[in-house]
Amino acid sequence: MTRQTHANQCPLEELSLNAIVELLRRNGMRITRNRIRIIDTLLRAEKPLSLDEIQTRTGAADYATVFRVMTVLENLQVAQKVNLNRSCSYYELVNPKQHYDHIICTECGRVTLMIDSCPAEKVERKIEKRYGFSDIRHSLEFFGKCRECS
Ligand SMILES: [Zn+2]
Ligand SMILES: [Zn+2]
Repeated sequence: MTRQTHANQCPLEELSLNAIVELLRRNGMRITRNRIRIIDTLLRAEKPLSLDEIQTRTGAADYATVFRVMTVLENLQVAQKVNLNRSCSYYELVNPKQHYDHIICTECGRVTLMIDSCPAEKVERKIEKRYGFSDIRHSLEFFGKCRECS
């Protein structure tokens, strides 16, 4: 029996501009300047970004382009949507070497990435066994008050 980790579900070996561009090429996508800019913006992001934030940070790309690119990246399982308890969705790239969940401050909205071991991996194994699913993924969000706000 092979033990699956989060890492196995990501089609990339490592999270880099080259690796993502290569994946897009392999899937027959054109590499446009907007796409490069958007991927670069996501790679530099210190937290998940909304479509608006991605558009603002990339400058040139219009909203529809950003949306299309994010949908492509999501379908390729290179990016994922997180909700962060707000009305719009936020996107982050999926790092094959490091899975993380999120802690959101309910006062100031600060997003902290939990980089230590994931509390849900065991649960995923159980879900696979009990419900016969494979490639289980998750996005966990914890809420509370950050140090500055409490
Ligand atoms: Zn706070
Ligand atoms: Zn997790």
